[in-house]
Amino acid sequence: MTRRPYIVGNWKMHGTRAMLSEARAIDRAAQRHMKVEVALAPPYTLIHPIHREAEQIAVGAQDCHHADGGAHTGDISAAMIADAGASFVILGHSERRQDHSEGDAQVRAKAEMAFAAGLRVILCCGESLATRESGGAAAFVRAQLLASLPPADEMPAEVAERLCIAYEPIWAIGTGIAATTDDIAAMHAEIRALLVDLLGEEHGPEVRILYGGSVKPDNAAAIFAVPEVGGALVGGASLTADSFMGIALAASEPFES
Ligand code: PEP
Repeated sequence: MTRRPYIVGNWKMHGTRAMLSEARAIDRAAQRHMKVEVALAPPYTLIHPIHREAEQIAVGAQDCHHADGGAHTGDISAAMIADAGASFVILGHSERRQDHSEGDAQVRAKAEMAFAAGLRVILCCGESLATRESGGAAAFVRAQLLASLPPADEMPAEVAERLCIAYEPIWAIGTGIAATTDDIAAMHAEIRALLVDLLGEEHGPEVRILYGGSVKPDNAAAIFAVPEVGGALVGGASLTADSFMGIALAASEPFES
């Protein structure tokens, strides 16, 4: 990894105020691993309380609406999450795509809105098991990203800072079965090539590509050693400070020797 590794916890629909102590522990531990950028995406209800207390970690959201306001009962806008203290948003997670029928065009509209609100975007992509088994994973991910990303001329000027891609094969999420390092290497190389095509030689090589899908403290070091892996998007293992910071430690070790 050439840039500072980025380790992001996705708490999904887990966490009430009782979890604030875990967020505090993560924040304290992050202060001891400054070579790693640690961030948490809790449920909306915890964004502001975590943001208010955090000294080191960034706080983000797991989604936002593609409109800037209006009659959208139960939804939340990019500006609202930014106002609550979020500095980034995860978009296009496969659970949103599956559970809420979100398509690529909607994800792209959300990304445009998030950028306009000043947020960083972690844009997720990843194939199903059937697609992988059919041999079509690379083509699928390429098409998904092309359709989900705003066009290059509408990206923010500091795109390498504001955009991050998370490759998350659906079959690896929450299953305990991470992709092999060979598969991760091949897909991250594809994504890197696409980013260079889209954003050019100046920005394309700089956008971080995270891997997500059953990352744990015991497999993290091997995953972070894969070329083009710039960090991890972590679900289950981000729910306790011990396991989440075990992953952050694996990301920081190559820099501390
Ligand atoms: C995720 O949901 O983004 C994820 C990667 O989950 P897990 O780490 O639990 O596989």
